[in-house]
Amino acid sequence: MSLSNPWFIAAVVGVLGVFHLEIVATFLNLAQFRHALPARLREIFSEETVQKAGEYAGKSSHLDVLRSTASVAVLVCFWWGGGFDWLQRWSAGWGWSAVYTGIGVIGVLLLAQNLLSLPFDAWDTFKIEAEYGFNRTTVGTFIGDRVKGLLLTALLGGPLLGLILWFFQTQVHAVLYTWLTVAGFSIVMAWLSPRLLMPLFLKFKPLDDGPLREGLLALAARLKFPVVDISVVDGSRRSSKANAFLSGFGKNKRIALFDTLIEKHTQAELEAILAHEIGHHKCRHVPQQLILGLLESGLMFYLLHLALQSPEFFSAFGVTGQPLGLGLVLFSIIYQPASLLLGLLSSALSRRHEFQADAYARSACGSAPLMDGLKKLSVDHLTHPNPHPLTVWLHYSHPPIGQRLAALEK
Ligand SMILES: [Zn+2]
Repeated sequence: MSLSNPWFIAAVVGVLGVFHLEIVATFLNLAQFRHALPARLREIFSEETVQKAGEYAGKSSHLDVLRSTASVAVLVCFWWGGGFDWLQRWSAGWGWSAVYTGIGVIGVLLLAQNLLSLPFDAWDTFKIEAEYGFNRTTVGTFIGDRVKGLLLTALLGGPLLGLILWFFQTQVHAVLYTWLTVAGFSIVMAWLSPRLLMPLFLKFKPLDDGPLREGLLALAARLKFPVVDISVVDGSRRSSKANAFLSGFGKNKRIALFDTLIEKHTQAELEAILAHEIGHHKCRHVPQQLILGLLESGLMFYLLHLALQSPEFFSAFGVTGQPLGLGLVLFSIIYQPASLLLGLLSSALSRRHEFQADAYARSACGSAPLMDGLKKLSVDHLTHPNPHPLTVWLHYSHPPIGQRLAALEK
């Protein structure tokens, strides 16, 4: 750990740089509430709603700042206090092979991170979300979700991680094999997740016969979109916030609508929302995002490979030797700025896709029902009416409501 080590400089500048950038973005975004809204948005958001959205954003943002300050503080203390070296010596004492030691070390750190984030998540769900009437999760569901999430990570991520560690331990072309494995894994997961994983967290039941079901099926048929199943998901067990999603490949499309969405929207709005989701499929947005993700992960594994070969990379974190599993963890720290930069790309692509899906829905159903639906969603969810461009740029996968409405009106 010295200033002559370029990895050390990169890691310090990266960790502190990302941390400060996020804080600046958060406060700029909150300051936006002090500016008057553009005329279009004043029609949608009453003064009372804006004030409430401002309070909600304030409380959520302060919690976010507290969370990231705590996590950077813990990281820096652990790092500069020789924690990584201690972890390395402790795990070497287990006497396991490099692959098993790697899985063990990463498992321990993931568990620690999960425990650290627990109080912040609980405060968010049971204090802030509850105060604004969004939370419907019970303590039992909250704990159950976390336990299921951890078990799934261990069950699915454990073997994948083992394979990756084994490639890097034994193979010359580890980067290529890892990349191919991860590509295959993400494609299989995209297929499996709505069938096997989501039902572990949410209950799906078929949408009852009636005008809504008929209307949605007729729309799908008119748009030549082969729907085999429409289900309702009990999102209301966790949150009053609404959502819709589509899944399936080829001729087996499934539509799932949150019960909360059906509760609050008219049939015309629900059809427009479905048309928007169909638009994503018609414009091939899913494979585009998948390909971008794979290019990003290819670059990441290449950089990982470079880092793992450098003893200076390990000494930047005070670690002697080149332990493989710990190397992956340290890489995830130094990789933060790159991940942020690549995230900008995929968010920008995603925002573009939202405009395209909106345009598709407009051509299918006209602009009025989608605009009504979007307005209702923004007001109900207390969305920031006018977010700062830096925040949009850093984090928004969807364009701000004002931009979407303007594009639909054109
Ligand atoms: Zn969309």
